[in-house]
Parts: sequence; C-alpha cells; structure tokens
Amino acid sequence: MRLYLFFVIVLGGLFFGKAQENSTNIILMIGDGMGLTQITAGMYFNGNKTSLEGFTSIGLSKTHSSNSLVTDSAASGTAMAVGVKTLNGVVGISYKNKTPKSILEISKEQGYQTALIATSSIVHATPASFYADVVSRKEYEKIALQMSTSVVDYFIGGGKKYFNDREDNRNLIKEMSDYDIVSSLSKFDNSTASKIGHFTNRDEPNKIVDGRLPLKDAVQSVLSKLDRDQKPFFMMVEGSQIDWGGHANEINYVISEFKDFDAAVQTVLDYTIDHPNTLVIVTADHETGGLTIPKGNIKKMRPSVDFSTVGHTASMVPVFAKGPSADTFSGIYDNTLIFTKMLNVLNE
Ligand code: MG
Ligand code: ZN
Repeated sequence: MRLYLFFVIVLGGLFFGKAQENSTNIILMIGDGMGLTQITAGMYFNGNKTSLEGFTSIGLSKTHSSNSLVTDSAASGTAMAVGVKTLNGVVGISYKNKTPKSILEISKEQGYQTALIATSSIVHATPASFYADVVSRKEYEKIALQMSTSVVDYFIGGGKKYFNDREDNRNLIKEMSDYDIVSSLSKFDNSTASKIGHFTNRDEPNKIVDGRLPLKDAVQSVLSKLDRDQKPFFMMVEGSQIDWGGHANEINYVISEFKDFDAAVQTVLDYTIDHPNTLVIVTADHETGGLTIPKGNIKKMRPSVDFSTVGHTASMVPVFAKGPSADTFSGIYDNTLIFTKMLNVLNE
C-alpha cells in the first residue's frame, strides 16, 4: 500500500507536474499600444466607464528594450513572456543570445492547459513571444513552424496562410494532426478535441468595425474549453489592433479596438466570479501614437485628442491585476518583472 501510494505520488507528479485543483489560473491580457491615454479616451468614449475600474491593484511598467527607450512589440512581448530584455524586432531570444522558456511553456511543464488569442495573426510579434524564438519578428513562416510544434492547447487568431501557403510548400495544418483546426467559432464550441485551433483569417484579421469576430466571444469559447478540462491554465489574450489605430493616427480605430478589448476584459472578470482562483493581469506592451488629450467637452464627456507620432513612445504603461497575488503587481518595475511575478504564482 505504501509502495503503491509512493508510485501514485511520484509518477503523478512526473506526469502532471505540480498542477493541482487549487493551482492559480493566469490570464494575461495585452492591449497592444494601449497607454494610459488610450484607456482614458476609450473610457470617455465608452460613457465614462471601463472594465478596468474593476481591478484592485495597479502598477506601472517600464517598457524600454535592450537597445531602445522606445520598444517594439517583439522586444516587449519577449520581456513579458520570457522575462528578458532584448533588441527591438527580436522574438524570444535575449540580448545575451539566450532562449529561455516562456511562461506559457513553463506553465505547461507544470500541468497547465495553455491558450493564445489575438486579434492579429497568431504569428504576430505579441503572441509569437509566448512560443517562438526568432531573430526577426518578420520571419512569419518560421514562427508558424514553431507554432505548429508548440505546447499551445487552444488558439484563435489570423494568419492561416503562413501555415498552408508557404515557401517550403509544407502544409502545417495537415502536420498539426493533434489539433482540430476549425473554420468557425461554433465549430470550435462543438469540438471535443483536446487541442483546437481557429484561424479567423487567411491574413491579418479585419478591424472590429469591419465585422471581425468580437474578442469577448473568442475568450468565452476558450474559457469554456479550459473549464471542461478541469486543469489550471495559462491564457494570453491580445487586443492587437489598438496599436494599429495608433500607427494610423485614427482615433476612431483606437477607440473601437479598445472597446472590443475592454469587453473581453469584462468577460474575463465575470469568469473570475465563479473561478476566484484566477489571476487576471491587463497591461500593454507600449504606448502607440503619443496620444494626448489637450482639450475636451465636459457636457458630452468627449475628449478631443492629438497624436504626436505614427510610431510608439517610451511612456510607462499601466498594469492592472485582480485575483490571487494581484497585490504583487502594484509599484513601478521593468516589464520583465511581469514574467517574474507570474512565475512566482506558478511556483507557489
Ligand atoms: Mg501585437
Ligand atoms: Zn506598433
């Protein structure tokens, strides 16, 4: 009997890592290019409210990369995903040429389920930081190849062409035989497979105003699968196109994408009511557009905005946290510490 128990505990530990019923789920939500002014403008354009008001701990993240005060999404995504500073444009490799495991990969080793959702292609710099190691974020087909053998259980995002219309003529979708690759969210919902992927677009997904799948719907579908699995999970959700609105200096693009992201944050907060063992972190990789609000209309609560660049800026970005260990996210710290703080939760 003792020997039997020994095997159950030791082998169980080997097979299932450290994950237990009471392990903490981690949901990291990244609004790409979502600085404090994007949040402020989005809030006023949303009737003076945002789901971010539901958070209990707030911090500030220093976003600089290893070679520039103004980061790009690859360096900042890498900082949050693997905990190292790197050069702009680099995914998953530190400036010291090291390729540490990402928080997603470490969580999988500990028996977690894993999920990635983006409103860009799934091979774009931010989601790629959680599974890929490439010298340039533009190596989309190489990133797709790394995605195809990754430990991601569920994914929803665009970029199908990097998998099935490639220079090397490989069809990675066929090679990903352990996945059910589905063509719609309802098929995702109905799938009984243990690994499911949904490409929302052949290339980059549309703007939300042009009828893209609402991010909150994708989040809800993935949360339902994670709930089914009865295991702790790590999920990264990106509102990718807040950044693209900033680059375009189009405030309506920024606001509509912020609202799509904000609604997804609310969906996650609603989930935590019945699942209090869930840590939710909402942050940005950097600010985009140098957005300012020099004036506005108080009666209509309408901001009037200016952009100061078509690129990114070096402003610190807020970090909102709620749930177990949320208080560790208050303060001012480097974006690499977001990785460290999540790792501490995994190692509790
Ligand atoms: Mg991005
Ligand atoms: Zn950008």
